[in-house]
Parts: sequence; structure tokens; C-alpha cells
Amino acid sequence: MEMNSANVEEIVKQVLESMTKTPVEVPAAKAAATESQAIPKTAHVAMLTALEHYDIKEFPIPEVGDGDILVKVEGCGVCGTDAHEFKRDPFGLIPVALGHEGTGEIVKMGKNVKADSAGKPLKVGDKVVTCMIFKDDPDIEMFDLNKKNIGGADVYGLLPDDDIHLNGWFSDYILVREGSSIFNVSDLDLKSRILIEPCAVLVHAVERAKTTGILRFNSRVVVQGCGPIGLICIAVLRTMGIENIVAVDGNQKRLDFAKEMGAEKSVNFMEHKGIDALTEAVKDAFGGYAADFTFQCTGSPVAHSNIYKFIRNGGGLCELGFFINGGDATINPHFDLCSKEITLVGSWVYTLRDYATTFDFLKRAKAIGLPMDKLITHEFPLEQINEAHVTNLEQKGLKIAIVNK
Ligand SMILES: [Zn+2]
Repeated sequence: MEMNSANVEEIVKQVLESMTKTPVEVPAAKAAATESQAIPKTAHVAMLTALEHYDIKEFPIPEVGDGDILVKVEGCGVCGTDAHEFKRDPFGLIPVALGHEGTGEIVKMGKNVKADSAGKPLKVGDKVVTCMIFKDDPDIEMFDLNKKNIGGADVYGLLPDDDIHLNGWFSDYILVREGSSIFNVSDLDLKSRILIEPCAVLVHAVERAKTTGILRFNSRVVVQGCGPIGLICIAVLRTMGIENIVAVDGNQKRLDFAKEMGAEKSVNFMEHKGIDALTEAVKDAFGGYAADFTFQCTGSPVAHSNIYKFIRNGGGLCELGFFINGGDATINPHFDLCSKEITLVGSWVYTLRDYATTFDFLKRAKAIGLPMDKLITHEFPLEQINEAHVTNLEQKGLKIAIVNK
């Protein structure tokens, strides 16, 4: 065999690669040692112990089992679901460690933990998020999720209390138990990581919308409701190349932000008396046309009833605003559904696969200049979790987050 220049080049490349690979092991090992030394004996967990009241409780950090992962929490968003739990405990969970929109850094892991739910390697120092926990249902798997939706799955931050207590992301440490879903998201910044969970809700909703076959690049789309969910909906549509978006809300500040997030036009329903006038305003915003597709992102029954009027014959609707029971809505099945041949899909939470899509969505949103960071309007330390929830209930901002130092 002759040693030609291609061979030489290959050998040089291999040697260079082996040289750069070896030293990488050293800082990783060093990090593991220092990190585990720095782990305190106890963790602080914000427990909702009564309606509208959290206590910061101190619990011993338990043994990390061979399949477990101990995560030092960096931050966690306050969700609408937390607000409902805070006010009324509809799930009957009190006392409960809440917080499911969290992220943090692995500080210790069991010897059996090698990779995340997508097969990406995991090590101490990696930044992670958790998703739904599907322990008992083999039909629900990472990349084959069309079989079932996630109904019945568990999630950290809405688990019944147990003797470990480190079950929610409103805390400084959380113990991710063997069999849980977890993703390595070290390539995303903290604010992006805090937004993963709510963004996954919209990635899922748009996936549901796509099943109708109606949503296309040049579709005229109404997004009704400009809270965090509606605003992120607009962002997801923009990253898909859909630009003809009209935002509908009653709060002008939110409508202005909807335009920053990519809405072409906005309609303030406070300025239009009655559904006929509002429908005309929406059509005007599309240059005289009704919408091809609509996303209903509010929890208001009246908003659900209204949205059918904005849709053209043969158009579609994705209803995702009622993530909890908000009461009954009235529609006229003849005028609203049958005679117009509307295709309606419901959407609720997300799947593991939507999580993987969401990581890419967040990178694309940033790349096309959408101000995702501005969705997080308030940051509170863990000790001020009660104030954070009150701020959320008063709807003073958009996404409220607990951020640990
Ligand atoms: Zn949530």
C-alpha cells in the first residue's frame, strides 16, 4: 500500500483529534469532584401548604440512587396551572411542591444514568429540563407518540407529596427519579430554558392544527388571546414562515407586543361593540377576508363562541385555551360548524416529541429576531414565591419566573 498525501492527511487529522480529545476528560472529572463537594445537606422547597400560601421548607437531600439525577435548580416559570392550584387547589394536592416549568444543572447522578430521553449523553454540569413521566405506559414512547395523548401522565411540580419532597421546580434542588423523562438543553440560555414548557404547548397546538391540512404558508391566521400562550403561538407560526397573522385581545399593551412577536395586524375587541362589529374588524385586518385558520388561546367561553364568526367556509380552528375547565360555551352547530364545514381540533399540553421540536423552535425564534426574552417580565427569588404568584394573578406582566442566584 502506498502512502499518498490523502493517507497522510487522514493520519495527521486522527493524531490531532486524539490530542484534542484527551484533555477534555480532565476538566469534566474535576467539575464532578468540585460539584459534589458543594452539594449542601439540605434543600429548600416552596411548598403550597394552604390556599394562597407557600412556606419555604427545608428537607434533607436524599441519597441519589443509581438511576437518579440531582439537579440544582436555576429557575422556573409560574404557569396558569400554578395560579389555579394556588387559588383553589383543584387537584387536591396541598401540601404540594409546585413548579413544572423549571430548569437547572446536574450536580450528581447515579452510575446507571448515561443519556437523556432523546439519547443525548448526560454528565454533571449539563443543563436539563424534565418533561412528562410515562413510567407505567409502554404505549407512550419518545418518538412514537401518535398512539395516545399524554392524559394520565405525571409531571414534576404536580406530584403528590412523598417522603423525598424534592418533587417541584420551585426549589433549589430537585431529585429526578429513575424512569423520568429528562432532556439535555445545555445549548440554550436560562430564559429560553424557562420558556421550554409553555413553548412546547404551542408546538403541540400547531402540530394539531397541521393535521387539518388547512394551515399553509400563506394562510390568514387569527390568534385570539395575547397572554404568554397566544404570544408564543404567534412566534411558533412565524418560525414556520406564516406571516399573515391577526392578533385579537382586549389589552392594547399585549396587542402591541403581539406585533413585536410577529403579528401583522391587531384587533382590540374593546373598540368594537358586539360580535358583528368585531367580525368586521377582523375581516378588515385581512383586507376584507375571513380567516383560514384560528387559534383560540383564552380560557373565556365567550371567546370560544365568538371565534367561529372569524373563520371562512371550510376553515379551521384549534382550541387550546381551556387547559382547565372554564365552563360551557354556546355555539350554533348549524351556522358555526356544519354549514361552514369547519374543521375543529382540540389541543392539550404536549408530547416528548414536541419537546425536541421546541428546542429547535427556540433557536429559530432567536435567529429571526423574535424577542422571546421579553416574555419573562418579572423575576423573583424563591423566598418571594408568594409575591410572584400575586403578581401573576394580578396579570401585571406576562411570564413571571422564580430565578435562583
Ligand atoms: Zn404549565
